Amino acid sequence: MSANDPDSGSTAPRVRQAPPADMFIRGSNVLDETGDFASRVDVLVAHGVVVALGRDLSPGASKVTLDGDGLWLLPGIFDCHVHTGLSSFDTLELLRTPFSRRVLETAQVLRRTLRAGVTFVRDAGIADAGVRDAVAAGHVPGPTMQVSVVAIGSTGGHTDGFLTGPGLECSVDYSLPDYPGQPPHLADGPDEMRKVVRLALRSGADWIKLVATRGVLATSDGGFDPELSFEDLAAAVSEAGRRRRPVMVHALGGDAIGWAIEAGARSIEHGIFLTEADAAAMAARGCFFVPTLAIYERLVASARSGELDPGRAARAFEVGERLGEAVQIARAAGVKVALGSDFGHRDDHGRNLSELALLHRAGLSVEEALLAGTSVGAELCGVGDRLGRIAPGYEFDAIVLDQEPTDLAQLSEPGAVTGVFQRGVPVVVHPRLHVDNTPGTLT
Ligand SMILES: [Zn+2]
Repeated sequence: MSANDPDSGSTAPRVRQAPPADMFIRGSNVLDETGDFASRVDVLVAHGVVVALGRDLSPGASKVTLDGDGLWLLPGIFDCHVHTGLSSFDTLELLRTPFSRRVLETAQVLRRTLRAGVTFVRDAGIADAGVRDAVAAGHVPGPTMQVSVVAIGSTGGHTDGFLTGPGLECSVDYSLPDYPGQPPHLADGPDEMRKVVRLALRSGADWIKLVATRGVLATSDGGFDPELSFEDLAAAVSEAGRRRRPVMVHALGGDAIGWAIEAGARSIEHGIFLTEADAAAMAARGCFFVPTLAIYERLVASARSGELDPGRAARAFEVGERLGEAVQIARAAGVKVALGSDFGHRDDHGRNLSELALLHRAGLSVEEALLAGTSVGAELCGVGDRLGRIAPGYEFDAIVLDQEPTDLAQLSEPGAVTGVFQRGVPVVVHPRLHVDNTPGTLT
């Protein structure tokens, strides 16, 4: 391991433990609810929760202190669309990899994601409730997780990876291998959808993820014809809603977006070909938009380097030309935009914050991009009353930067985030963090 390896040395994330009774961060620049930074603000944290914020506060009996002069303090980043259980797009590799190795690589992905400053993820399929619960139990370091377990689609649709040769049922590109207790991911018709949603919820899903159109690289014709009917979408939303679980819908364009909004989806994922009418409906219904620009940027790069066949490359370029337009349409309509990287490859995991610069390039201001990655993400995930802001009463999930984040692109570089706190526990320890180890006083 080199010194630059995010997994090596003293900066490797630590498993969360009980927070110190009191912690004091003096005089840093703190992100406020407008996305701007208030300068020279003191933050007092007790038992993992911010109890006071302001100038010239008293550190009280804090035994853990950080001189924040010249540092920037932000809420921990929310990645609202990521696949932590996936580290390769190579179908043959995925077919050959034992499940145990995949789960252990997921642990490494979660560690890298936390190291990058992401303290909360909404996993859009593959990582299951066991992974979420193992992190919560402190078996491995990682962001707090909400999981959809599977991505539910229709027979022959985008999530259906049926292998014609051996005649095997499996997920697209074998991204989700079979394992005991795995819920199904295909549903045809509203009755079957109800059952499949119930099975996903029984498996511990926090979200129901639906796939309503094909993906960008699908080579079959058909534009963005819906792969789920309005009735399918409505059945899923009502079934999930009775268990107070929200629904996220993968939809690139066409009728599927409007149907998903009308059915009551809480968020639209990708939405590259979002129209002004779609955006107006989203704003009216309070539906969030998660544009996942980073993964499409990666696809365009793959097309440029010749990694994709001509048909797929052409589709990637088509998307690349549109990249960001949907963000401008959504912004103009007043739709809430949240950060999601859609990462699912070991080359990408840990660079989640690159989405911030892409959101900015697409038309969000720096302030709006920072809020998309913090308070808006928290609101989307239903935890906006206790996470996503640095404010009294909020749990202290936070990141430290040594440079002002005016150039958001710098945040995707390894080491840009110099400190990470989870519920008041320093899990990536900033070099300036001071712990007073006077015997008998550290709690
Ligand atoms: Zn995805």
